[in-house]
Amino acid sequence: MSPDDLKTLIRSVPDFPAPGVLFRDITTLIAHGEGLRAAVHHLAARAEGAQAIAGMEARGFIFGAAVAIELGVGFVPVRKPGKLPVPTIGVDYDLEYGTDRLEIDPGAISPGLKVAIVDDLIATGGTALAAAELLRTAGAAVTEALFVIDLPDLGGADRLRASGLSVEALMA
Ligand code: 5GP
Repeated sequence: MSPDDLKTLIRSVPDFPAPGVLFRDITTLIAHGEGLRAAVHHLAARAEGAQAIAGMEARGFIFGAAVAIELGVGFVPVRKPGKLPVPTIGVDYDLEYGTDRLEIDPGAISPGLKVAIVDDLIATGGTALAAAELLRTAGAAVTEALFVIDLPDLGGADRLRASGLSVEALMA
């Protein structure tokens, strides 16, 4: 299936999680076996050369782990706070209302490891920028960020590119 075909498998849900927000729901894509496999293939083709994949909790785990399996490289979970059972390093980042935090196990990153970030969607780019900063703090060489969906009006991909990342999404 082409990225254009995959777009038809995304469900748009109005007023979630707040009034006025049109949420792009990937549940319908991942329920479709051929669609899920094609999405993972398309992402993996763009992540050639990565030595590890990092995915953000929770939907980034679905696509990121599958891409890592396809490439035969390891997967680094970028977690919400308090989930990992070992000493972590973390980064706080701003949301539209309030702040959030991401954490990783620094032991998962060897110096210079070439890591590609994978998530389901990029909106403002805040989550991916925070993940890139965290992975770089741990010693990774983060060069690219891959998404199933880009919401270009929110400018996230441009922000990521301005920070030196190469950014690709399967659909806008
Ligand atoms: P950003 O940090 O780029 O503003 O937001 C992206 C993060 O929020 C991603 O981790 C993504 O999973 C989640 N997100 C924000 N809006 C949506 C949406 O409409 N659909 C989905 N599936 N995820 C969203």
